[in-house]
Amino acid sequence: MVEIKSKREIELMREACRVTALVHEEIAKIIRPGITTLELDRVAEKVIRENGGIPAEKGYPSGEKGVMDFPASICASVNDEVIHGIPSSRVVLKDGDIVSVDLVAYKNGYNGDAARTYAVGKISSKAQNLINVTKQAFYEGIKFAKPGYRIGDISHAIGEFVQKKGYSVVKEFQGHGIGRSMHEDPGIPNYGKAGRGIRLEPGMTLAVEPMVMAGKPDILQLEDGWTIITEDGELSAHYENTILITENEPEILTIIRK
Ligand code: MG
Repeated sequence: MVEIKSKREIELMREACRVTALVHEEIAKIIRPGITTLELDRVAEKVIRENGGIPAEKGYPSGEKGVMDFPASICASVNDEVIHGIPSSRVVLKDGDIVSVDLVAYKNGYNGDAARTYAVGKISSKAQNLINVTKQAFYEGIKFAKPGYRIGDISHAIGEFVQKKGYSVVKEFQGHGIGRSMHEDPGIPNYGKAGRGIRLEPGMTLAVEPMVMAGKPDILQLEDGWTIITEDGELSAHYENTILITENEPEILTIIRK
């Protein structure tokens, strides 16, 4: 069942998403060679809590037997790590790295979810192109995030765009509805057939999130039970925003308009 949010709920979503966006603004400022992903995590948690929120990823259950609940406030995935990287004092970012930071702020009962891939120092043109394509894939997808289209139209647009650029999308993970829960219906794959899936209606809040790999589409999970890496060791990038379906163009809730 896909929830249609009321006006009141949309205002609460806006606030949770604003906090999420604030954290990304802060992370963008402090990313540099020499900083650890644990330091990024600490800053994220501080900004979320100072703004009345709770880091929703912290303590998130894996659902797999014997795997710890997620121990941090952000996912920080470096280079060939695709998603769900665990922040650590041992992961020191180096000049030329890319790091995908995915985070969810929970406030007043609602969640805001957004991911960005950041450049650390000076990165290769190959890495920059991957970041650009991943971000653009999100925008290609949300051209169809309005009434008159279906979920499959978003998925198709993302998948086609990424493929045309010579990259791969992750098939095992997908975007999702979001609201009181971090993950709600519908699932939003980053590939698929146009014209399929549920019809989009005003009041739906969705996390659209291309996860793109520079090489082949195969992934592996590390023994920590969380970190997903590319099997071929190629780079991966992630770009995500929580959006609101309206009567017209979608509203991106996790970008603060200046
Ligand atoms: Mg996310």
